[in-house]
Amino acid sequence: MSSLTARAAEWQKSCGCMLTFHRAAPAAKWADLPNKGFYLNLDYLDNLLGTLKRDGWEIVTADEIVCRLKLGENGSRLVNFSVDDCYRDTFEHVVPLFRRHGVPVTLFVTTGIPDGTMPLGWAGLEAILAERPQITYNGQTVEVSTHQAKQQWFARISSAWETHDFYDEFAKFCQVNGVDPLELRDEHAITWEMLETFKGDPLVEIGAHTVSHYRISSLPEDQALQELAGSRQRLRARLGIDCRHFAFPYGRSGDCGKRDFDLAREAGFVSASTTRKGLVRQGQDLFSLPRNTLNGVHQSMAYASFLLSGLAGLAARVLGRV
Ligand SMILES: [Zn+2]
Repeated sequence: MSSLTARAAEWQKSCGCMLTFHRAAPAAKWADLPNKGFYLNLDYLDNLLGTLKRDGWEIVTADEIVCRLKLGENGSRLVNFSVDDCYRDTFEHVVPLFRRHGVPVTLFVTTGIPDGTMPLGWAGLEAILAERPQITYNGQTVEVSTHQAKQQWFARISSAWETHDFYDEFAKFCQVNGVDPLELRDEHAITWEMLETFKGDPLVEIGAHTVSHYRISSLPEDQALQELAGSRQRLRARLGIDCRHFAFPYGRSGDCGKRDFDLAREAGFVSASTTRKGLVRQGQDLFSLPRNTLNGVHQSMAYASFLLSGLAGLAARVLGRV
């Protein structure tokens, strides 16, 4: 990974690369997940952290990237890892792994998850499919006893829900399948007590990721500001921290724009991140930082190298996928 990415990063005069993912699972469990793309295999993440450290990359907080960008650094081999949303696996698996490597991780918390105000949605659908041999869907009993069937039905149902009121659909699905959504949420959500254990740990940086995980560009301005500022206030009230960094849900160009970047500044954040691919470079606007998503379907050192080199950002711009 070293020679190509070092040359490319220097060539692009970058001040680092921001990587993000949602969830992680132990290798044995990962293989059976209905929604693998949403998870990283912990063995892969372990290997990636070890490889980056050996290759001389400096794994840092979002705060460090922003500070070094302001200082005008060029050609730095800085990498930041962030976890969006934050479920129980962040507490059980992800933070312990980063601590074991002695490197920091940024948690962008959706405060409706520990507050219990946000239904699980896709994570809940996935949990139900993972645990059951059969489900009821659209009035029919469906066999989901094989890994392949679980994955196919996850893809099918989640895409059908995209065009409806998502949380309503999930509530109805729980009801016909005899699932208590509150019990399910308690099994999978991160709690404030778990988040409190990270307070004061220099290896855990806590940022905000809205209250309810809405697509910010789709909201009227006052509601959008409330999603941003409300999550910051909630993290201060519960954890006593002054949250400096924010990440936009979904984060692609249709999900957050100029108005929303201004709202992040107004809400008191120092930076806001998107999921537009690319490296952080001099002159970069701090409220639309690029971040590269690590997807469970593309787990390879070669793909990580592609992201770190900045070539992924270049390819996305060429293909118009921003
Ligand atoms: Zn998210």
